[in-house]
Amino acid sequence: MINQTCYELGSNRSCIRELFEYGRGRAAVVGNENVFDYSLGNPSIPAPAEVEQAIRDILTDTNSLAIHGYTSAIGDLATRQAIADDLNDRYNAGVRPEDLFIGCGAAPELVSVFRALAVPGAEILAVAPYFPEYKPFVECAGATFKVVPPDVPGFQIKLEAVEQMITENTVAIILNSPNNPAGTVYTRKTLEELAALLTAKSAQYGHPIYIVADEPYRELVYGGVEVPFIPNIYPNTLVCYSYSKSLSLPGERIGYVYVPKQATDAGALYAAVAGAARAAGHVCAPSLLQKVIARCAKLRPDLESYDRNRRTLYEGLTALGYEVAKPDGAFYLFVKAPGGDANAFSEKAKQKDLLVVPGDGFGCPGYFRVCYCVSYDMIVRSLPVFGQLI
Ligand code: PLP
Repeated sequence: MINQTCYELGSNRSCIRELFEYGRGRAAVVGNENVFDYSLGNPSIPAPAEVEQAIRDILTDTNSLAIHGYTSAIGDLATRQAIADDLNDRYNAGVRPEDLFIGCGAAPELVSVFRALAVPGAEILAVAPYFPEYKPFVECAGATFKVVPPDVPGFQIKLEAVEQMITENTVAIILNSPNNPAGTVYTRKTLEELAALLTAKSAQYGHPIYIVADEPYRELVYGGVEVPFIPNIYPNTLVCYSYSKSLSLPGERIGYVYVPKQATDAGALYAAVAGAARAAGHVCAPSLLQKVIARCAKLRPDLESYDRNRRTLYEGLTALGYEVAKPDGAFYLFVKAPGGDANAFSEKAKQKDLLVVPGDGFGCPGYFRVCYCVSYDMIVRSLPVFGQLI
């Protein structure tokens, strides 16, 4: 007897992984340099030297049992204090260490938050385009997953659609800004309008509707564009943060959940998040990495190479006639498929060993995603292929 849902999730690779594996296979045949793989969001800038130095220092200075032992289930106090200090310096947010739960990256943190909110009948909204894993995360938590249609071409939030879709069962709406796959950043105006709507709907239904802010790309923003700190606009916000992209540490599994003390039922909510993490076995995030974050919480990435990639691709593709969403953040471009069928475009591109991900899995057919955390050289060499395809 095997759980059918888990079986299906485990036996069908995501479209992104499928393309990535295809690319590896082709590289073995035609050579790495002849495959233009824009499929996977693996950071292409190394972790900052300070992080690697911190790892060396910790290994040298700290007693081995203390480095590798279990921490407290919710994370070391020193780590939570360092994160709280950083958030308070940047956003004057009034964060306390006891408002933070150290998690193993955004994915398990989101799972814990969805499970914490999944009362019987609960509905959770996601704004398209959205990170495809939200759907299994929400559904396996026992809630219903509902998609707010995309606001094309600017990829802000269709507030009229949100208003229509909220019911008495809505417990949360997931926001991801800077956005994977669109690369867009929700403006303060968008967020303030959404906050007003959620406040009114929460009052109408007599229970809070939380924002779940999925923020692995918070620090990846270009040209001085503001990424508002959502809890300061709408206190009923749970932040799921990750160092996977900001410090290029996706394999190390470290991040945090922030439950603001101003949120409705904050104490119970925090306990439920911790309890959900416990039930999933996601407590005691990696101890060495917690110690690294205690020393490096204030570090920011050097975005120069992503920015150069972003500008080169954006300018190159628009000059060729492609329509591209304004890429203010993360490391993705979201491009309108010539002819309107992104699957057909992606297939055609595949024949030329250029790998881009159709938008269907992100809830946005007709667009494809280009992930520009790749080498600059590959971008330059791929532009003529994009030219042939249009
Ligand atoms: N959320 C979004 C929008 C992502 O793009 C990713 C990873 O690519 C995740 C969450 C998961 O990140 P983590 O490595 O922190 O689990």
